[in-house]
Amino acid sequence: MAHVAFIGLGNMGGPMAANLVRAGHSVTVFDLSAEACQQLADLGATVAASASEAVRAAEPAFRVDYVISMLPAGKHVAGIYLGENGLLAQLGPETTVLDCSTIDAPTSREVGAAAAQLGIGFMDAPVSGGVAAAAAGTLAFMCGGEAATFDKARVILADMGKNIFHAGPAGAGQVAKGCNNMLLAIHMIGSCEALEMGVRNGLDPAVLSEIMLASSGRNWSLEVYNPYPGVMEKAPASNGYKPGFMVDLMAKDLGLAMDIASQSGVDNQMGQLARELYVRLQEAGMGQQDFSSVLTLLERKG
Ligand code: NAD
Repeated sequence: MAHVAFIGLGNMGGPMAANLVRAGHSVTVFDLSAEACQQLADLGATVAASASEAVRAAEPAFRVDYVISMLPAGKHVAGIYLGENGLLAQLGPETTVLDCSTIDAPTSREVGAAAAQLGIGFMDAPVSGGVAAAAAGTLAFMCGGEAATFDKARVILADMGKNIFHAGPAGAGQVAKGCNNMLLAIHMIGSCEALEMGVRNGLDPAVLSEIMLASSGRNWSLEVYNPYPGVMEKAPASNGYKPGFMVDLMAKDLGLAMDIASQSGVDNQMGQLARELYVRLQEAGMGQQDFSSVLTLLERKG
């Protein structure tokens, strides 16, 4: 049993923290939303009045084994960890810090460097899998940090996920996540284009999907997340594009991927096009739809 402070109990953090409580850990939580905190209290977590109080737990001298954060963006992560009143200044080397938020790699590296100066183990550990996987405890974690920190981190991450990867030093988890989601966007759009082209030429989308799945066009979008309505009963496409994984989140992740590409001088033209299409979907008011709804952009072309 470990003592864990969990900061950020939104759509992802809430079910992740709940899984830690169920696994028998002593979990102290904090979120700006009292309602989110109450949901965790109902499951047996202790609610703190601030992030600082969460890392101190019940006694002022007491230090937690892990601090885990699941926050919207880099500014929130820098805000809670850095500076004189930040959490790092209140922790010691016995605590391991795991930031599971999807944020820009430079902020992860900055927090990682500040933690290293204080002798505190830090990992960026963004996740793949979405809300359903967070609830089921089957997330994939992509970790960036020292090997020794990874060894300590994987013990607790295993109670929230099933695939735990060490991608490299601090920031590497964010880079891995950016690479994966850029590729996901590209093969989703490619799958939509292929299906739409087949349908406009008289093919049945289910038959065409079967053909491509048995051929070299096979990919994850076709395999488990077919974007054409009616092909896969449980896919968002067959349920009015209810998410799933929202267009807004894909657009955010592609923005982070574009930053990684430009910071490292990569000419990622397909990734840029993918981002443009997702921003266009947001502008069309579809930010809250599932990301496979990119098919509707092709349909609208008439
Ligand atoms: P969310 O908006 O539902 O939750 C964020 C939570 O953080 C909110 O409850 C908010 O009140 C809290 N918060 C913000 N600032 C805070 C602060 N200073 N102190 C304490 N709490 C604070 O977001 P989410 O969907 O849970 O996503 C969290 C992260 O996970 C994001 O970085 C997102 O990109 C990533 N992610 C989300 C999904 C998904 O499907 N939702 C999938 C993979 C990764």
